This record gives sequence, structure tokens and C-alpha cells, in this order.
Amino acid sequence: MKQICVGILAHVDAGKTTLSEALLYCAGSLRKLGRVDHKDAFLDTESLERERGITIFSKQARLTWGDAEIQLLDTPGHVDFAAEAERTLQVLDCAILVISGSDGVQGHTRTLWRLLEKYHVPAFVFVNKMDLAGTDQAALLEELKRCLGDGCVDFGAPEDERTEQIALCGEDALAEYLETGALREDTVSELVRRRKLFPVRFGSALKLDGVEACLEDLGRFAPEVRPLSEFAAQVYKISRDPQGGRLTWMKITGGALRVKDLVTNRRPGMAAEEVWQEKADQIRLYSGEKFRLAEEVGPGTVCAVTGLSRTRPGQGLGVGADADMPVLEPVLSYRVFLPQEVPAHTALQKLRQLEEEDPQLHLTWNEDTREIGVQLMGTVQLEVLQRVIADRFGMAVTFGAGKVVYRETIANTVEGIGHFEPLRHYAEVHLLMEPGPLGSGLEFASACSTDELDLNWQRLILTHLEEREHYGVLTGSPITDMKITVIAGRAHLKHTEGGDFRQATWRAVRQGLMQAESVLLEPWYDFRLELPAETVGRAMTDIQRMGGETQPPETVGEEVILTGIAPVSALRDYAAEVTAYTRGRGRLHCTPCGYRPCGDQTAAVVERGYDPERDVWNPADSVFCDHSSGGIVHWKDVPKMAHIPPMRQRAAEEATAAPVRTAPRGAVTGGSFEQDKELQAIFERTYGAVKRRDMLPMEQVRRREELAERRHIKPQKTGPEYLLVDGYNIIFAWDELKAVAAENLDAARKNLMDVLSNYQGFKKNIVILVFDAYKVRGNPGSVEKYNNIDVVYTKESQTADAYIEKATYELGRDNRVRVATSDSTEQLIILGHGALRVSASSFREEVESVEGQIAALLSRNNAAAGRTRSLAAAMEKAAEKAGK
Ligand code: GDP
Ligand code: MG
Repeated sequence: MKQICVGILAHVDAGKTTLSEALLYCAGSLRKLGRVDHKDAFLDTESLERERGITIFSKQARLTWGDAEIQLLDTPGHVDFAAEAERTLQVLDCAILVISGSDGVQGHTRTLWRLLEKYHVPAFVFVNKMDLAGTDQAALLEELKRCLGDGCVDFGAPEDERTEQIALCGEDALAEYLETGALREDTVSELVRRRKLFPVRFGSALKLDGVEACLEDLGRFAPEVRPLSEFAAQVYKISRDPQGGRLTWMKITGGALRVKDLVTNRRPGMAAEEVWQEKADQIRLYSGEKFRLAEEVGPGTVCAVTGLSRTRPGQGLGVGADADMPVLEPVLSYRVFLPQEVPAHTALQKLRQLEEEDPQLHLTWNEDTREIGVQLMGTVQLEVLQRVIADRFGMAVTFGAGKVVYRETIANTVEGIGHFEPLRHYAEVHLLMEPGPLGSGLEFASACSTDELDLNWQRLILTHLEEREHYGVLTGSPITDMKITVIAGRAHLKHTEGGDFRQATWRAVRQGLMQAESVLLEPWYDFRLELPAETVGRAMTDIQRMGGETQPPETVGEEVILTGIAPVSALRDYAAEVTAYTRGRGRLHCTPCGYRPCGDQTAAVVERGYDPERDVWNPADSVFCDHSSGGIVHWKDVPKMAHIPPMRQRAAEEATAAPVRTAPRGAVTGGSFEQDKELQAIFERTYGAVKRRDMLPMEQVRRREELAERRHIKPQKTGPEYLLVDGYNIIFAWDELKAVAAENLDAARKNLMDVLSNYQGFKKNIVILVFDAYKVRGNPGSVEKYNNIDVVYTKESQTADAYIEKATYELGRDNRVRVATSDSTEQLIILGHGALRVSASSFREEVESVEGQIAALLSRNNAAAGRTRSLAAAMEKAAEKAGK
């Protein structure tokens, strides 16, 4: 039987629960139709959900349709719970996106759509509530195509019209259609699998209209996933049953799981003390609150397993890979106030249980102040958490005022060194810490030769880097967006114990951060404001004052819809203001959309009052054996004392001594010479060519302090904003353009030029698009005006980076300059010149927020061309055949 795991996603109130029930009812799995309004819905099991009429915890139900066994996962719809929805996404074979016909595509719908895109989940669209008066099917379909893509095809349309629309979604499909006049089912489901086609049904879940058709589409066109042959599974949730038993929710993606099988987290190369092995006690197949026991489950099945105590959401078991970390992270933190009689430690223990179920909860415990904190997406989740704590543990907690959750990153590359050597202990670690693009998260690697440090120790260092959050030195907030590479380390044959490398690694991170130029990042919201027309001016002024950006307002009936982005710190209390000035008619919806450098870093840092030198839990100092004052060496002195010289010094020594290394040392390690060369390259990229050996890190620290000081007093640049765009870099970083480029580079260039001229028209900045032409013999270089932007083709032997570097240097003195690129080499140079770098992906978001839909524009641009092309090709083929 075909196994399909289907997630149902929607903006809250679109009718997700009602549709799930209707699907079950139509498939005969449910005899009586519950109704959310009557508070007896089958899937809304928790009392809290019934009371509020919203879905908070994801539920599952199973049904059979034809030869397909369908497992439904009802994912939470409220924005506050998006993290849980996101984890569920990773186990889906496909999704049904429910849209309310009376509201159309909402801000949160777009967020969900982007997530489906990110995890490559094929999607079906159900436009619900079409029974309500005033819903306009044609207009809704237009909106779907505009907002979600041209692949949205009305499957309720007459047969021939529908087939033609589907055929237009892919070249192969079109060829098949032109040749045979029809499409095979396989062709259609392949289009669905590749996310070229999104079958749309209009209907009413409440009136059971269009629900069977939706099931039919699922059964026929939902793509089948090829299972792995060995056992593999993905954990997506941890919860407790009513008896308090721990349930590990997983989807089997390969092989089989039998009752009493041993489940382990063992991976090749894992340190022995990290490995666990536990017996799968029961395998439960849940439908709503009820479950039946299974002896054995195979690929495609979603089940809850008891007897496992050490699993965690997102974990891959067997040969299955770990899931990607959630993109949506909580942006607000609250202090938990406990009732008098409850000791903090007891409460902490109980709350840890909740955290285990939702790692996103991020409990924090401050040993000094004995305070518990939690991090959450917003106030609805806060309210729910309060209730859950009361129901489960009988504790009446309250919360303090929420604070924004900051992140920190660095603006320059540093080498962090940690040394840990109390009596009979020994470990030393050197880390290269490089800034990464905004939103890229943390990346860990090792570039250390095995001659220098045994592979096992290297792995252990990586484990210690990954095993916890590391805190920045500005405000003590988690660090992000950097690449940390293990470049050297040393163990002692006798004295090194497991914990020593942990100490050295954590200290190395902090030592690096202390030297680096740190950047405070704050969270931003994607917002949507629905307002009476006369208040839109006020709203736009407010958003501008917050430092946010808005798209041109859209008028819908009597209302105006304003969308854009703004810092969470400014928007979080804005809902009340909106209610006040619109007399209750305005509504504000917010979704976190990532982090950006903080508008007023100095003020924010002062407000948090964090002192890294006094953070005893996160020391930057090192411990040396033969040192006075208890062995503690201040972080500034660590490079001088380290047993392995810092990289800069080593590179300089090697350059002057120039040892002739003829071949890599030892066949086993093989690449040490290559690795050294790579290190040298990183080094030169970072600090410039190696010349003398007197440039010790300390000098660099001093220079950076000077630079930071000078930066502070630098007057604000007031000239116009320049935006330099590294053309090919962006083309190859944006999927749509890359796809165009694969066929026709000229068209890709042209498309980017169009996108940027629209963008300029809105932003009114000066846009310079730079294309490499350096390989073109005898080319003198040129600058062209294209509409409202400048397009530069660099001259022979000048790369785009070189051009951009020169331009930022010249322009950067008096003007605000930003550079859109994805190249890390440039990044360093550009930052050095005081320009701001925008990564290809955040630039894409920025353009998208101004321009609406890059994809839509491109497909409009190209669809016409593509269609004529494939039609011409098909006609040629037909003519050939006829000629034979
Ligand atoms: P969820 O929050 O997405 O799970 O939405 P629910 O299924 O709880 O439904 C939200 C509200 O919309 C409830 O009052 C439902 O009765 C109502 N509703 C759901 N489907 C339909 C429909 O097809 N037509 C109409 N008129 N109302 C619906
Ligand atoms: Mg619901």
C-alpha cells in the first residue's frame, strides 16, 4: 500500500481542524462529524485547545483511500507555535495548505509557503469556506498564482482546460501533451513532486464540499518516496501520554522497526561516552487520542515509541540524517515568577520536562540570581504555557515583562585560543572564527592535520562546539552566523581526559570573541497591518520612525493593507497602539523574519549591562599549570603563553624558514600539505600576505580597539545610498535566476537588470550592477545605463570583486555603501572599507519585500519565451514526423 504522510497547514481559523475531520469522515474513519465550535472536534484533544478553539499541539490521524494509507498530521497554525509546525514539516511527504476563501493569502500563509519551499515539500491547496457569500473563485485563483506561483492549477476546472494548464507547468509535460493530447498520471505526480505544480481545490470543509475531490487528488498525485533499505527514522516530537509515559514520535524512512529492537544514536566516529542504546518498548499507531499497538512498522509510517528516554526532536536514527534546525526561533524572553512555596530547583526540574518536548522553549537558569527564564515566540504561547504549567504541575506561575532575544556575531576573522592545564590535565585548542552571511547560523569544521592532532580529539572538539550554545561578549546572547574551524590543538599522552577538551574549546570560543569586533543582532518581524484607509498615513510614519520598511499600501474594499518589516523591539507593543488609533478596527499580524544588526548597538549593550570579564560561567581566560595566581591567565595573554604558536606566527615562521616539503607526510593523513596551503590561503585572505613575524595577535587587538574607537566618533555619512551588486554572484545564488542562467546567461542578466530597476524605482538609491568581463580579451570595460540603474562590465583582467573593492573604497568615505554579494573574500575587504555587506539571500528578501515576487516576475518574463520555445520545438518534431 502506498504510504503518504500529509501535513495540514494554515493560518489560524482557516479551517484546518474542520478539514482534517472532514477528510476522516469522508474516508469512513470517523462516524460522527465533530465541530470545532461545539468543542468536540476529534483532533482537538487537549482541553485547552477545545476551550480556545485553536490547535496547539500537532495531532495525527490515519485513513485509507483507495490503495493509499494516508496519515494526517494537523500542525499548529498560530504563529507562536510555528516552530513545532516546522519540525513536523520535515517528516511530510506532502502538505495541504488551507486558505480561507474569505481572507485569501495572509502574511502567515506566505511564511508557511516559504517553509514548504525550504524543505521541498510538495503541496496541495484547499481553498476553504467557499460557502460564504462574497467569495470570488476567479479572483482567489489569481491571488494564488500571484502569491504562491504559476504552478497553482484549479483541479476543479473542466478536464481539457485543466490538462492544458498542467501541461504548461513543465517542458516534458508540455511535449507529452502536444504529442498525445493527454497527460499520464505519473507525469502529473512528478510535477507535484518537483513542486512545479500545486493542485488547487475550492470547497467547504464544513459542508463537505470538495473534500472527496481533495482526497482523490492526494491518492492519485501525492508523490511516493523511495525508502532507504537500512533502518532509518526521523524524530519530530517528544511528548507524554496521560500516564506520564515518554513518547518519541518518529517517521520511519527506511528498513523496519520491531518491538524490542534496540535503538541507538550511534554514528561512525562518535565518542564512546556519547553513545546510548535503548529498547523500543511499544510501537503505537495513534489516531486522535486512541492508538493501536504494532509489532513492526516499515517505511513511511509515523508512530510513537515508548521506552526511549534520550531521543530529541529533530534527531535522525539509524542511517537517517538529523533534521535541519528550525528557522523560526523565539524572539522574546520572559522571567518566570514562581509561587512562594515552590523552590526554584524543583520548578526548574519540572519545566525541563516541558523543554524536552519543545526544545524551542529555551529555559534559562541563572545560578547567581536563581532566576528561571523562558524564550517564546509571543504572548499567546505565554498564556498557553501558563495553563500547561498549572494543569500538569499545579504551579501558578506568572511572567515578567518580555525582553527581545538578541544574537551576536563578529565582523572580522580571529583566532581563538583556549588552554586547560590544571595539575594532571591537559588540552589546548585553536579555532579560526570567521563571520558568515546574515541568517547562515553556525558552521563548524576542522582543518587540522591528523599529524598534529589525532582525529578522535578533533571530533571531540567539534562535539564540544556543537553540544551547547555559546554566548557573545556584548550582552551574553547566543552567537550565530559564523564559521568556526578547528585549526590546531594538542593533547597530552597521559594527562588528557575527555572534559579537558571541553574546557579548552569553550574557552577558545570566548577568547576569540573577546578579540573580535562583535556585532549585536536584533530580531525583525514581517508584519501585516489591516487598517481603515484614513489611518494609513499614521501607520506608515510610525513604521518609518521604528526604522522599518513598508511596501506600497494595498486597498482591499474599505480597508488598506500595509505589509513590511520592522524590528521586534519596536513592533511588539504596537498592537495596542493600533487598536487605539483605529478605534479597534485595525489588526496587526507579526511573524519573525530573522535577525539584522541592531539599530542602536551601544544603547542596547549598555541596557543589558553584561560584563564578559566577570561572567564566571563563560570564561575567556585559560588555565596554565605552572602559573601563579591559581593558574588563571588573562585572555589577552593566552596567545603569548600558548604551547602551539598562533597561526599568524606559525605562518610567518614557515614563510621565512621556507622548509621544502616535497611530499605529504604519511599516506594515512595524505593531505597535510594541502591543508597547510589552505590554511595559508585563509590566513592571507584575512590578514594579507605574510611578511614579517613581528605582527603578533596582540598588536591586532590593539589596532582593532583603536579602530572601534575611531568608528564611534566617526560622523554619520549623509550622502545618497549606493548599492553595488555583484551580478554573477547574485545570479548563481538565486535559484530562479540560476535556472534561467543554465539555459541562457543573457536572459538571466537581463532578468536581474529588470528586477533591480524595479527595486531602484522604489528605493531611490543608486544601484550599480557589476558583471565580470575580465576574461574577455582586449575588453576595455564599459558602463551602461539601463533604465534607472548603472550596469558595469569590468575591463580585461579586472574581476568584479576588484571593481567593487575599489568602488567601495572611493564611495565609502562620504556615502553609505552597501554591497550585495555572497563572496566571503569580498566581505572582509568591504567591511574594512566601512561598507555594509548584504548576503545574496537577505538581499533577495529585501528585493522581494519591495518588488513582491521575484519568481512571479521572472516566470512572467520567461514563461512567454519558454512557451514559444517549447511550442516551436514540439512543432518542429511534429513536422519531422509528418515528413518521414
Ligand atoms: P483552524 O484554526 O484552522 O483549525 O480552523 P477550525 O477548523 O477550527 O475552523 C475555524 C472556524 O471556521 C470554525 O468556527 C469553523 O466552524 C469555521 N469553518 C471551518 N470550515 C468552514 C467552512 O468550510 N465554511 C464555513 N462557513 N466555516 C468554516
Ligand atoms: Mg484547529
